[in-house]
Amino acid sequence: YEQLAADTVILALGQDADTGFLEAVPGVELAADGTVSVSSSMMTGCPGVFAGGDMVPAERTVTVGVGHGKKAARHIDAWLRDATSTRSPKHPTADFDALHLWYFGDAVRRQQPESAPESRIADFTEVLGSLSVDEATYEAGRCLSCGNCFECDGCLGSCPEDAVVKLGAGLRYRFDYDRCTGCAVCFEQCPVHAIEMVPEES
Ligand SMILES: Cc1cc2nc3c(=O)[nH]c(=O)nc-3n(C[C@H](O)[C@H](O)[C@H](O)COP(=O)(O)OP(=O)(O)OC[C@H]3O[C@@H](n4cnc5c(N)ncnc54)[C@H](O)[C@@H]3O)c2cc1C
Ligand code: SF4
Ligand code: SF4
Repeated sequence: YEQLAADTVILALGQDADTGFLEAVPGVELAADGTVSVSSSMMTGCPGVFAGGDMVPAERTVTVGVGHGKKAARHIDAWLRDATSTRSPKHPTADFDALHLWYFGDAVRRQQPESAPESRIADFTEVLGSLSVDEATYEAGRCLSCGNCFECDGCLGSCPEDAVVKLGAGLRYRFDYDRCTGCAVCFEQCPVHAIEMVPEES
């Protein structure tokens, strides 16, 4: 390895979660690296105590932490109701060929602001700025939502039989099978392949 002369060394990497305060909690199991063991429902060995994110053995990223929070919230809710949280089965993944990319159009990527090279050497001000909330939200909107309805209302507008019933924001749609003729117009136009045509039970 290389040796570097330095006046000050600032520890800025390799942070660990400070879980020492949990040592006194009965049932909580701590690994040698300080992470807390959790079950598949994110519950520690102490009934009613849940954990997630950097303090449990997993990939330490924001995405994983947010996912743990969502999963734990479902299980906490069920635990408080003395019930079991069950997830509805995942939709099959819609591959690239199943998407209708014409729907999404093209848009130039939002650029993060960067300071000019001459000003970078003047001080330690951050060189790369952040996107604004609007820009970040716009970029997140590029998600192709493969196989998952994102409520574009395409099926609602295209059904010739008015068989698609909108259930409200976040609640998606219901298909009225008394009206549906099985013409597949909704299926064919769905940008993200969130609709499957299945044969009617005889
Ligand atoms: C330098 C650095 C760069 C990173 N870059 C990225 C990146 O680019 N992308 C990415 O996905 N991830 C990145 N990560 C990882 C990411 O930041 C973490 O995975 C994520 O923040 C973990 O979220 P968390 O909620 O589990 O923990 P934290 O965000 O650490 O939140 C824990 C909170 O609990 C508080 N707390 C601690 N002890 C107690 C106590 N006893 N009582 C009350 N409150 C307490 C803390 O103050 C803190 O606010 C980076 C991490 C570091 C250190
Ligand atoms: S099922 Fe498809 S077409 Fe209908 S609203 Fe959802 S994404 Fe749009
Ligand atoms: S299959 Fe045809 S009739 Fe049935 S919901 Fe879709 S568009 Fe409407």
